[in-house]
Amino acid sequence: MKTYDVVIIGSGPGGYVAAIRCAQLGLKTAIIEKYKTLGGTCLNVGCIPSKALLDSSHHYHDAITHFEKHGIDVKEVKVNFEQMIARKDEVVAQTSGGINYLMDKNKIDMFQGIGSFKDATHIHIAKAEDENETIEAKNTIIATGSKPASLPFIKIDKKQIITSTEALSLKEIPKHLIIIGGGVIGLELGSVYKRLGAAVSVVEFMPKIIPTMDDMLAKELQKALKKQGVKFYTGHKVTSVKNSDKEVIITADDKKGNPIEFKGDYCLVAVGRKPFTNGLTVENAGVEINERGQIKTNTYLQTTTSNIYAIGDVITGAMLAHKAEEEGTMVAELIAGQKPHINYNLIPGVVYTWPEVAAVGKTENELKEEGIAYKVGSFPMRALGRARASMDLEGQVKVLADAKTDEILGIHIIGARAADMIAEAVVAMEFRASSEDIARISHAHPTFTEAIKEACLAVDGRAIHS
Ligand code: FAD
Ligand code: NAD
Repeated sequence: MKTYDVVIIGSGPGGYVAAIRCAQLGLKTAIIEKYKTLGGTCLNVGCIPSKALLDSSHHYHDAITHFEKHGIDVKEVKVNFEQMIARKDEVVAQTSGGINYLMDKNKIDMFQGIGSFKDATHIHIAKAEDENETIEAKNTIIATGSKPASLPFIKIDKKQIITSTEALSLKEIPKHLIIIGGGVIGLELGSVYKRLGAAVSVVEFMPKIIPTMDDMLAKELQKALKKQGVKFYTGHKVTSVKNSDKEVIITADDKKGNPIEFKGDYCLVAVGRKPFTNGLTVENAGVEINERGQIKTNTYLQTTTSNIYAIGDVITGAMLAHKAEEEGTMVAELIAGQKPHINYNLIPGVVYTWPEVAAVGKTENELKEEGIAYKVGSFPMRALGRARASMDLEGQVKVLADAKTDEILGIHIIGARAADMIAEAVVAMEFRASSEDIARISHAHPTFTEAIKEACLAVDGRAIHS
């Protein structure tokens, strides 16, 4: 029987990063993945394909809305949707292939099949093509990720009533896409199809979209997407979803409790994701699952069985690829006897709409709830020379700083390139910078990052350009 220092079940960003770090630290490592391609949700049906389609649709939308103003005459701009999807598939295949290369380079043994626990140190691998095998693991890292969640009365038929997975590989551009859930997936994929010409309606249960983010971001993003033509129905409770004759009919109760009907050709259900542990037989290893279906872990990400760890979407916390990656690294280092640490408060959140949305640290509501006195500095993108040059005038940066110490507690950005700009905020907060620290640092001109400096200056009422 093959024996390993560490066996990792699941090859998403949590699992494959954990495997590489284990190998780097000299641990004999194996990874088990049930699908033929490595990379998990993120690479195959998540982060990467969604960003590929967001970029393609952004180019098209730019061409039809901005090129003329820029002085670029293009005679006929058309969408070749088949090619757009084919390019997305190519990007996915290349990225996933890159993970195979990294596994080989780091001498990590790969097993294709479904991993399940026989006991706390033996993993059974049910293979589709070869003979089943059992391997021995001194330590195991569960990184089995998540699957789309749904509502009890919805039957996902994967044709018209779909999840993000199907929405990333449609054969046609919907005429009217009705999206249940105004969270990250709903707004990113809604943006893709709106830009490509679909009518898009977002039905959200909560009073605002992206409900966990700062109110300013939700308000500004809704305003920007509304301008692009997306229709929003916040505070609406969906009560039924049915399909008949190529039509999907959705009923919901509006804010006053009155029934309202939506008809479209596709319904995307984007109401969150749920941890995935099917077939793992964790009970054989004494690993417990909580009432939300997540694997229970302590602060060292150990499960209720000390040599078995769990990371990423299958445990508590934000369902984000970079969170899973940090946890993969942390567990590998713990197993190797190091003392790593993750600052969960500084895991940034990004929505890749246009304008982009990015945030790190506390929201204003959280600071109020925690009774922390704070100061606010805001700066509008439209006051930046860079924003005018590129015609990306929407959005703002908001900085929240401690009223007494001036330490930055949260930075919330909506605007062009916010996804990349948030890194400055994370670095600043990791080093516990004050708003004055950032206000006094030179930011290249003209760049969008000047809005961060100006918002920090605004905390003290001394922004230069507004
Ligand atoms: P996963 O990536 O889900 O990987 C788990 C792997 O385990 C899968 O490959 C699965 O097949 C395998 N597995 C499960 N059970 C077994 C078993 N018993 N045996 C063997 N293998 C098994 N996050 C971001 O940070 N940025 C984004 O832009 C972003 N965009 C997204 C867009 C979409 C449409 C979706 C759906 C998600 C997006 N996410 C994004 C979230 C991100 O994909 C997840 O947070 C991330 O993939 C979680 O990583 P993971 O390693 O925990 O699990
Ligand atoms: P989400 O939690 O971001 O959004 C779900 C939305 O559905 C929420 O706004 C919620 O209020 C709403 N909702 C829930 N029940 C509802 C109901 N009955 N009727 C109407 N609305 C309802 O989840 P998601 O958008 O499905 O994404 C899943 C996960 O994937 C998220 O945790 C997210 O972090 C991750 N993801 C991240 C990115 C990114 O980082 N850019 C992109 C896509 C997905």
